[in-house]
Amino acid sequence: MHDEVQRHFWLPVADPGGRGGTRHAFPGRRWEGERTREAICGEQLPLANPSEMDWICHPTCTTCWNTLRNKQFGR
Ligand SMILES: [Zn+2]
Repeated sequence: MHDEVQRHFWLPVADPGGRGGTRHAFPGRRWEGERTREAICGEQLPLANPSEMDWICHPTCTTCWNTLRNKQFGR
């Protein structure tokens, strides 16, 4: 039942009011259209359909990245 916690997906999230954004990791299989979702790094983030440019331009959230890396290799 809780094996979805093991899974994650990446999704670009635009900064509020800004042009930039960050690509965060979220627990689950995929984005299922929720308006907000808590990222791996603990931030509650508003979600929207990312454009192709968002995928290219937004840098990866280092907190999400490190958290996932520690989960996989930290034991
Ligand atoms: Zn993050």
